[in-house]
Amino acid sequence: MSGRHATAGELELYVLGALDAGRVHSFEAHCAACDTCAAALAGEATLEIAFEQVAARTARGVVVRPLRAVAYGAAGVLAMAAAVLLWIGRSPAMAVGAGEPTAAGRRAPPMDDGAIFDSRSDALDGG
Ligand SMILES: [Zn+2]
Repeated sequence: MSGRHATAGELELYVLGALDAGRVHSFEAHCAACDTCAAALAGEATLEIAFEQVAARTARGVVVRPLRAVAYGAAGVLAMAAAVLLWIGRSPAMAVGAGEPTAAGRRAPPMDDGAIFDSRSDALDGG
C-alpha cells in the first residue's frame, strides 16, 4: 500500500490491532513517509483512546449504581426499624406497669400522657 493513502477502515483496524498481519508492514512504511496518513492515524488513535475512556467510565458507573441502591435500601430499612421501635416505645399498651391485671381480675386501662401529667400535678399540689 505504499502508493496510495490509508483508508479510514485501515486506520481503524490498525489502531484496534486488527489490520491483516500481511498489510501491517506496508501500512506502517506508508504512514512513516506520508504526513497526511500519519496525521489521520494520530487522529484515529486519539478517538480510540477517548472511546476507551468513556467505556471505562460507563463500566464503573454500572458497578457503583447497584452498591448505591443497596446502601439506600439498607438506610430505608434501618429508618423503618427505628420508627417502629419508637412507635412501640410510645405505645401506652406496652408501657411498663400499664395493663397489668388488677385484684378484680380486670386489666386496668393504660395511662395516657395526660393522666400521667395530671397525677404529677396533683402530687406537686399536695393532693
Ligand atoms: Zn498517505
